Amino acid sequence: MSRVALFPGSFDPITLGHVDIIQRSLPLFDEVRIAVGTNSTKNYLFSLEQRVNWIEQTFSHEAKISVVTYGGLTVDFAKEQNASFLLRGLRNPADFEFEKAIAQANREMVPNLETVFLLTSARYAYISSSIVRDVIKHNGDFSHFVPDTVRP
Ligand code: ADP
Repeated sequence: MSRVALFPGSFDPITLGHVDIIQRSLPLFDEVRIAVGTNSTKNYLFSLEQRVNWIEQTFSHEAKISVVTYGGLTVDFAKEQNASFLLRGLRNPADFEFEKAIAQANREMVPNLETVFLLTSARYAYISSSIVRDVIKHNGDFSHFVPDTVRP
């Protein structure tokens, strides 16, 4: 059976931290599906179409990677996609505490869906989409934090 991982997130916008996690996960899985969330209670800076588009451009050369969109519970979508793994990145202890609770709740709901965590590379650990959004809103130089494809 092929090993399909889902990498769920907002990607508002995709950053070099996300790219690092995705690229390093490729040897582990046959397919990595980047699942861009549409949560009606979240206020995104960029439209779903724009967020998806930047990810698709970033990985256009990588056959193992695809981009999908979803609403609702991540575990339900993972089942629908026949994914056996959820991929998440960890930057710091705050991420760990937050992600631990989500992963444990998810495991309670779907025991055979395994969450796999990769530690972010030190050089990208400070990057978050929210910092990038702030820099973009204030016309700062965001090019150090995002792949070249992200051009708001
Ligand atoms: P969410 O809204 O679900 O947190 P994000 O797009 O912010 O969505 O993050 C998606 C995933 O990417 C999460 O697992 C998050 O920990 C991880 N991530 C975010 N920024 C980085 C980074 N700089 N380095 C490594 N992983 C990151």
